[in-house]
Amino acid sequence: MTSLTWNPLLDIPPFPVYGYAKLADRIGALLGTRHDVLLVQGEAIIALEAVATSLARPGLQALNVVTSPYGGLFGDWLSRGGAAVSNVIAAPGLPITIATFTAALDAMPGVGVVALVHAESASGILNPLEDIATLAKARGAVVVVDAVASVGGHELNTDALGLDIVVIGAQKSLGGSAGLSALSVSPTAWGLIAQPGGVEQSTLSLLDLKHNWLDRGRLALPGMPSALEFHALAGALDRFEAEGLDNAIARHARAAAATRDGVEALGLPLWVEASGASNLMTGVQIPQSIEINSLLRELAPFDTCIGPGVGLIADRLVRLNHTGNRARLDAVLANVLALGQALQQLGHPTDLGAASAAVLRHYGRPA
Ligand SMILES: *Cc1c(COP(=O)(O)O)cnc(C)c1O
Repeated sequence: MTSLTWNPLLDIPPFPVYGYAKLADRIGALLGTRHDVLLVQGEAIIALEAVATSLARPGLQALNVVTSPYGGLFGDWLSRGGAAVSNVIAAPGLPITIATFTAALDAMPGVGVVALVHAESASGILNPLEDIATLAKARGAVVVVDAVASVGGHELNTDALGLDIVVIGAQKSLGGSAGLSALSVSPTAWGLIAQPGGVEQSTLSLLDLKHNWLDRGRLALPGMPSALEFHALAGALDRFEAEGLDNAIARHARAAAATRDGVEALGLPLWVEASGASNLMTGVQIPQSIEINSLLRELAPFDTCIGPGVGLIADRLVRLNHTGNRARLDAVLANVLALGQALQQLGHPTDLGAASAAVLRHYGRPA
């Protein structure tokens, strides 16, 4: 007789049927919303595709803010579903400006949906969510926000801002696993989704999730939920709630400020000014004389979390990641010093001592 060895990742207890609604309620509290919260059994990009697929149909006019490849994809999914999409494209790697957005809004009198990413991990920018939401709501548009990166690292008051759909994942600022995502849906958004012509009988259908979960009393989820992922989400929320949302946001803000000061003390230009920068990633312009791949090669042995930009800006900046569990002194310091040291190896002088002091000042006792 063979005996199977016990494996903690495989032989896990089932996730209790009444536990899904509790998770949804905890996510609702985190997002500051009383709207419905749906759980999506897949990484956040799947929830985003489900939102676009469920909203899109011929006759819908959508204004889609593009500040990274994520926004580009969202517009493509809306178009695929027959919507008329106007992409409002920011300068590469920069936040959208209110002037650009307003001009696009004025050019689309029948706008039904406005979509944007809150904070971009691709470049480290923060979009002016409050202003955009206010302008979009004044025109009666349903506002869709990709808050996958920002939730937990930035303030995000869903109901106070009137955000209709907010999509999140656990794997960025919340410090959780990537296998599950969630979204809030306002009654107004449900009204749009439920109009004739929407997608049903599909894993990307929000209406299916409503019928098969919300309308059945929020007990068993359809399909075969991965208990491992649900336990992981519960664990991430336990840890996050123990710290507290305000503390977590403050921790991210401190990591961002320390990183920015450290980079400036190295003598390097920041990619964006503080008002347009996220708390999650810091973009740093690389010196003209430095080639991005040589820099990444020098950085590799340090085992830090520094990568190139994504998309059109891929060879013009590096991004220092201080999201989730990386928003802490040792990770911030390692990023800044590794970047300075790597540039020195390539012949570009930097001041590592000044950079250390600049970072540490943010973590010491107040003067
Ligand atoms: C990470 C991220 C996503 C997608 O997350 P996946 O892990 O790829 O599913 C979407 N939008 C933003 C802004 C992100 O940072």
